[in-house]
Amino acid sequence: MNDKTQDIAIVGGGLAGASLALLLSHHLPQLKITLIESFPLFNSDNEKSLPSYDDRSSALSLGSCRILQTLTIWSQLKPYLTAIEKVHVSDRGHPAGTLLDYRELDDISDEEALGYVVENRHLGQVLLSALAQQSNIDTISPATVAEVTPQADEAQLVIRQGDKQQRLAANLIVIADGAHSSLREKLGIAVEKSDYGQVAVIANITSSGYHDGVAYERFTDSGPMALLPLGDFNDEHRSALVWTVDSDREADVVAMSDEAFLQTIQQRFGNRLGFFTRVGKRHIYPLALYKAKEQIRRHIVLMGNAAHAMHPVAGQGFNLALRDCSALVDTLCDATVRGQSPGELDVLNHYLSRQDLDQEKTIGTSHLLTLLFSTAETLPAFARNTGLFGLNFLPGIKAWFARQAMGVAGNRSQIAQPASSTAAEKRIK
Ligand SMILES: Cc1cc2nc3c(=O)[nH]c(=O)nc-3n(C[C@H](O)[C@H](O)[C@H](O)COP(=O)(O)OP(=O)(O)OC[C@H]3O[C@@H](n4cnc5c(N)ncnc54)[C@H](O)[C@@H]3O)c2cc1C
Repeated sequence: MNDKTQDIAIVGGGLAGASLALLLSHHLPQLKITLIESFPLFNSDNEKSLPSYDDRSSALSLGSCRILQTLTIWSQLKPYLTAIEKVHVSDRGHPAGTLLDYRELDDISDEEALGYVVENRHLGQVLLSALAQQSNIDTISPATVAEVTPQADEAQLVIRQGDKQQRLAANLIVIADGAHSSLREKLGIAVEKSDYGQVAVIANITSSGYHDGVAYERFTDSGPMALLPLGDFNDEHRSALVWTVDSDREADVVAMSDEAFLQTIQQRFGNRLGFFTRVGKRHIYPLALYKAKEQIRRHIVLMGNAAHAMHPVAGQGFNLALRDCSALVDTLCDATVRGQSPGELDVLNHYLSRQDLDQEKTIGTSHLLTLLFSTAETLPAFARNTGLFGLNFLPGIKAWFARQAMGVAGNRSQIAQPASSTAAEKRIK
């Protein structure tokens, strides 16, 4: 058994853990960081790849892109990004709908968009290959953290790798081991859980029409459906589908032939993208809201889905996690100037107080949208249609809504500021 001491240890190399490691490494290069992941981090075998980097696609908000732009990975990521220039929100069977176009919002520079879509597999390749190149990040994988024990001046980890076991101590341990975090449970941290009784069905869809940079969010009697724009492949127009259905329909949806599946989607979505001609492999994700009742303890912080996991209806899970990561890095930069160490409770309290409101608003809005848009009942249908209708005629509210969705509202960390004063902040008033 080895004993080793690091400044920061991160458990989990998913989207949250890997992004945080790169942000820390870039903005606080003097720190020694270790990242531990149960799956092999540098493995080209898709079947063994990390759960974060599966066949899903992620809509990255403008705020997330600004954070990622501070890292050298941005240029490697760019070829895999498809710009979201417009968002079209509609409700099946009701006339109201709204189109949000980035050109309507003053001061977004021509190089920016409402956000970008990236296939998680590509995002993973870029994040993980950057991790391998950082001299101040040690990685241990495949290896599983079995225990975390906070102590007076540090916290200790027990790491299992095959039949070997090692201990590692760090001033700050970041627990980013996902929504079902076993370490959160071992620390006795309770979670607030709301099961939506729904699953998300995801698949890539080929259509005869081009998306033109439009992300579609459509509310249907069987649950919300999003089609996110993807880059063409072999001259075929592609979009990423996220369709929410009640859990008791899961078996039917899985059993459908590709033809029947495409027909069902077409019926619910309409012809905005022409005809759906092909569907890739379908994957199912059970949906629930998880919120840890504590996110910090002395020398410990929960990050990503371990801290909060939400319904993908508004595509905010990773975007919020990235804002948390950048706020933590910002706070640690300030703490370093003051001579404080990363795991001090005072420092972690400061981090959480900066992110509290953002977390409350983002989680609350996702939860409310899920409830409002997952029912065909008259009152919620009236509320959402009045809302969609109102957005078209109240530009102030539309812009406020856009700022939240784009992750550029409120007080952002230094890292999340636009590169120059020309960008979105003024424009999205
Ligand atoms: C269908 C769907 C669509 C989505 N779309 C969007 C979107 O468009 N935009 C957006 O912002 N968000 C989106 N999200 C949310 C986003 O995918 C999550 O926020 C993100 O994946 C969370 O990443 P994570 O790193 O916190 O957790 P995870 O991806 O679960 O990663 C945790 C990692 O920790 C490792 N691990 C676990 N236990 C241990 C241990 N004991 N020791 C070592 N390693 C361990 C695991 O192997 C794993 O690699 C979507 C989610 C779903 C389900």
